Amino acid sequence: MTKNKTRKNNKKIIPFKKKKNVRFSKKVGKKDLFKKKVITVSLGVAIFLAGLGGVEATISYIDEKKQEKIEMQKLAEAKRLEEERRKKEEEEAKKRMVGVNHEAKKYTYDAKIVEQKLKNYDYSNNGEKVVFLTFDDGSSTTVTPQILDILKQYDVRATFFVAGQNIENGGQKAKDLIKQSFEYGNAIANHSYSHDYKYLYPGRSLNLENFINDFKKNEELLKEILGPYFSTRVIRCPGGSMSWKDMDPLYEKLDESNSADINWNALSGDAEGGKKTADELVQRAIKTSEGKEMVVLLMHDTYGKEETAKALPRIIEYFKDNGYTFKTLS
Ligand SMILES: [Zn+2]
Repeated sequence: MTKNKTRKNNKKIIPFKKKKNVRFSKKVGKKDLFKKKVITVSLGVAIFLAGLGGVEATISYIDEKKQEKIEMQKLAEAKRLEEERRKKEEEEAKKRMVGVNHEAKKYTYDAKIVEQKLKNYDYSNNGEKVVFLTFDDGSSTTVTPQILDILKQYDVRATFFVAGQNIENGGQKAKDLIKQSFEYGNAIANHSYSHDYKYLYPGRSLNLENFINDFKKNEELLKEILGPYFSTRVIRCPGGSMSWKDMDPLYEKLDESNSADINWNALSGDAEGGKKTADELVQRAIKTSEGKEMVVLLMHDTYGKEETAKALPRIIEYFKDNGYTFKTLS
């Protein structure tokens, strides 16, 4: 019994102890667990908070990057708009460069003023002598190259009233001459496409529709040769506007578009009557220019006008020696 009791006791004790131990350990465990929980929660909160801080930092970093990106996009957009504006302005400027290239603007003179002066027979120019060398009916592949060489030799510029049909007859070479002439700083002006009196002035009277179409056709050809921004507001009527009837509708149209119809007040006579020698052309040019402060000299650079090229150096020298400035019509 004792044994049993003992055993029982033992048995009891042991499990009790064990139990007690278990209980004890459980108690300790609970405390530990509680502590652990507190630590874990604290840690968790700390991590969470740290995490929050991290997230916050990350968010603010992303925001910063986003802002940076937006700023860069804004800058790029502003740059693009600025570039667009600059290009547009340049194009507009090119459009305004009527008849001449950018650099050649310094040689130009307001053609509208010249038009008015010629129509009023007023050849004064505020005490300053000015001469406009003008060449009609080109370009030709024979005479135009000679004229261009002489102008370069004397470092002067002229105005070329070109006719489309003649340009096309001269093929690519004639077109290249227009380009060279323009690049050198000469003014390119419109002298109609067909140069056909019967088409432009049937019965010697203006046909406005034909006239406008013919000049438009020539301008289109010039745009083809010199680029889409080329335009000119300077025209010369084939035969001169004073030679034809019923021209008033044309003058009204020209005024509307601020274009100028330029005749002449001096000439070498290279298109009059029989063939003249270079000497005769020089003398005629001088005689018709005398006493005029503003000279618009008519000459031709079309086929068969070799004498004009021969006369030109002496004509230029005459105006240089007499204190004239060489200007172009624009
Ligand atoms: Zn002509």
